[in-house]
Amino acid sequence: MPSDRLDLESRRQAMEEFSGASLSGRPDLDILVIGGGVTGAGIAVDAATRGLNTCLVEAGDWASGTSSRSSKLVHGGLRYLKTLDFRLIREALIERDLLLTKLAPHLVLPQKFIFPLKQFERPLIGAGVMLYEMLGASRRTARLPRHRHLSHKRLQRLFPGLSPEVFVGAITYYDATVDDARLVLSLVRTARSAGAWTLSRVKVIRLLTDADGSVCGAVAVDLESGNELEIAARSVIIATGVWTEETQQLGATDSGLRVLASKGVHIVIPRDAIAGDAAVVTQTKTSVLFVIPWGNFWLIGTTDTPWELDRSNPLATASDVEYLIEQANAILVTPISQEQVVAVFAGLRPLLQRGVKPGTSSSRVSREHTVASPVPGLTVVAGGKLTTYRVMARDAVDHALGERAEQTPSVTHLTPITGAEAYTDVKSESRSWQERFGWSVAIVEHLLGRYGSKAREIVAICEEDATNAQPLESAPHYLRADVLYAVTHEGALYLDDVLCRRTHIAMQLPDRGVASVAEVASIVAPVLGWDTDRVDHEISRYLALASAESYARELHDDRDATRLFNGVVSHDQSAYTSVIAETSTKQMGSEVFR
Ligand SMILES: Cc1cc2nc3c(=O)[nH]c(=O)nc-3n(C[C@H](O)[C@H](O)[C@H](O)COP(=O)(O)OP(=O)(O)OC[C@H]3O[C@@H](n4cnc5c(N)ncnc54)[C@H](O)[C@@H]3O)c2cc1C
Repeated sequence: MPSDRLDLESRRQAMEEFSGASLSGRPDLDILVIGGGVTGAGIAVDAATRGLNTCLVEAGDWASGTSSRSSKLVHGGLRYLKTLDFRLIREALIERDLLLTKLAPHLVLPQKFIFPLKQFERPLIGAGVMLYEMLGASRRTARLPRHRHLSHKRLQRLFPGLSPEVFVGAITYYDATVDDARLVLSLVRTARSAGAWTLSRVKVIRLLTDADGSVCGAVAVDLESGNELEIAARSVIIATGVWTEETQQLGATDSGLRVLASKGVHIVIPRDAIAGDAAVVTQTKTSVLFVIPWGNFWLIGTTDTPWELDRSNPLATASDVEYLIEQANAILVTPISQEQVVAVFAGLRPLLQRGVKPGTSSSRVSREHTVASPVPGLTVVAGGKLTTYRVMARDAVDHALGERAEQTPSVTHLTPITGAEAYTDVKSESRSWQERFGWSVAIVEHLLGRYGSKAREIVAICEEDATNAQPLESAPHYLRADVLYAVTHEGALYLDDVLCRRTHIAMQLPDRGVASVAEVASIVAPVLGWDTDRVDHEISRYLALASAESYARELHDDRDATRLFNGVVSHDQSAYTSVIAETSTKQMGSEVFR
């Protein structure tokens, strides 16, 4: 079985395969997948496990698009009951249960939810939740506890933080949560172990067509070296989420899918700010409000506003944060305040528009996702959600293969993802780690939840050098080994890869992880071959990014926030100063420009 290790050496080998040779001399790829979010990574797993020669390319870090900025739920979506989309709910609930029981039981965990009720809501919501459960019922159903009705008094006991004046009782039910960024990473490693080539920081800039006008590969740039690669493939699949229209146009076609972007923001606040022990879902005037336990924190989300600016950097503004605090405070006993907000993050929903562009053959259009073919050789898939990534992947590969799909059907419903294999054995083995390394139960659980059976590799790193078993001084809920492993096995190439997606230090410390940067850099530098100058450069790059995001959060308007962000990241002091002046905002520590 090929190694699933993502490190500099495996990247170098993959680059060597695709650089230099003439088009005909390239590895004979069946499928080239563009986009390393959950959809693209799922497609790479689907294709590679069918035995197809597959390559996955991602312009940024794995999951750096929408797939690391979700509400982190694996769910059917109660809200679809309103629109009677029962098939959709059932499909998502089947996926939830597969992930919980077979595919990723270390990463996808059951979560108790409370749906608090206002006067007269009980009969309707009660029937809805019962239907929701029935839709998920099947032989494969995970053994999740059934829903229960709570009186006003019992709701107070279970969730004292919810205002007793607003709600008359509640219904509890179960769904699941996931670490979205780590799910994507695990899928990439699964694809790798099934033989796929996986290249991050490789951006497709053109699609190649043959004499008949069929797409037969792509030209991409290795963003690390600036080198161009020509990647030949029988089929190309675009899975670029909110970048779908842009990527389709690289094939000189105006056909394809229509995808808009809508911004969704979450705030992170300390767990002790709200007294309660379950996730809460409630309706607001315009949308749905989630309050979700996330380790030592709560995630509160989300907003839903159109986004027409740079899709690489959706920014949360002061208006977004104020809106979420206001919505949360409308249902809480003890109001939360701006000062309690530890972190904020924004993501873009890929909003699939009805119909396809003229000249497109579309194979499957559901309300959630569509697979289409703008030109022969090219498949585009968009829409859907994190929960249904496997179905989207299967449909996309089936479409790309056409009639051949029958001979090589998808096997992903039978394929545990990296870390899920032998998980139960490793769980029992893990009891000895506490004594061996002096770890608390919480640390062992943290390792099992992040890595599943791959936690054995973390243990091996700690056995090699006991200092790796030590917590980070600046973020003691992570080990030095978490950081080291991110670059030796998980393909992290920059500080933000480690701080934002391999760990979530950037979202769990109020300074966006700034206090950890030097320590993290000192651990990764020897592996990534950084000298002192490079370390300084990477640290200041991260500091500029962190400052830019926090300055943008002071402004109310998306456009101003984006201008300010760009000014700070590119060290353009005049751009920074002009936004500050125009918006009459106070100067924010301009240390970035020193
Ligand atoms: C606020 C919010 C909350 C959500 N909550 C949930 C939830 O709780 N549960 C759920 O199931 N779903 C949720 N979703 C939906 C879910 O997150 C998305 O549907 C899913 O992550 C989209 O994944 P994707 O792979 O299609 O897109 P992305 O993750 O955006 O991946 C696309 C990738 O393509 C890459 N790319 C673009 N152009 C190129 C190029 N030219 N070359 C190479 N690579 C390129 C990008 O860098 C990007 O990484 C939520 C979404 C949002 C915004």
